[in-house]
Amino acid sequence: MTKDAALVVFSGGQDSTTCLFWAKREFRHVHALSFLYGQKHSKEVELAEAIARKAEVPFKVMDVSFIGSLGHNSLTDPSVPMDSEKPAGTYPNTFVPGRNLFFFFFSAIYARELGIHHLVTGVSQTDFSGYPDCRDAFIKSLNVTLNLAMDEQFAIHTPLMWIDKAETWALADELGVLDLVRHDTLTCYNGIPGDGCGHCPACILRREGLEKYLASKAHLH
Ligand code: ZN
Repeated sequence: MTKDAALVVFSGGQDSTTCLFWAKREFRHVHALSFLYGQKHSKEVELAEAIARKAEVPFKVMDVSFIGSLGHNSLTDPSVPMDSEKPAGTYPNTFVPGRNLFFFFFSAIYARELGIHHLVTGVSQTDFSGYPDCRDAFIKSLNVTLNLAMDEQFAIHTPLMWIDKAETWALADELGVLDLVRHDTLTCYNGIPGDGCGHCPACILRREGLEKYLASKAHLH
């Protein structure tokens, strides 16, 4: 069992890119795994690959696009307009049911093949959308399930679980990759890298976090 290696579930967005560099600090060997899940913006995977190359991390793409065809959501179905706000009592239609469950299941199998037992993900319970598969309880439960399913001792690491977007920017800065995360990642629901379209929920959340962080940093200096 290789204790010094980790596999990062990597989308090329702000959160998982920050996690990629966090993992590089915490582990001697880091691998990145991205998924094609039928997302409208498959450019996401090309950007992820470019970031992995800069980070000098081995990169793999797994095609699980069938999961996009199972449900009805605005990230994978071009005919579904995206919710601009969180609807009361339910999830925004950017929610892809079961996505993280699938991602972890395949990640764990792949990690096991590589002899890796540490999995890293950028999920956060403080995320405004409150997706159920980003919550700590789900991740802990899944960790137990994966261990039982494969008779292994996986450890899922969630460095962003309890921090907000401003603190995620602070972590990127601490890791020396604030500019890379700002310019090379894709978080925007409209598929525009860097600062994005500026008006979708992901761009607003990201920008507000950055402004909050930069303001607190300016205040300190
Ligand atoms: Zn946007």
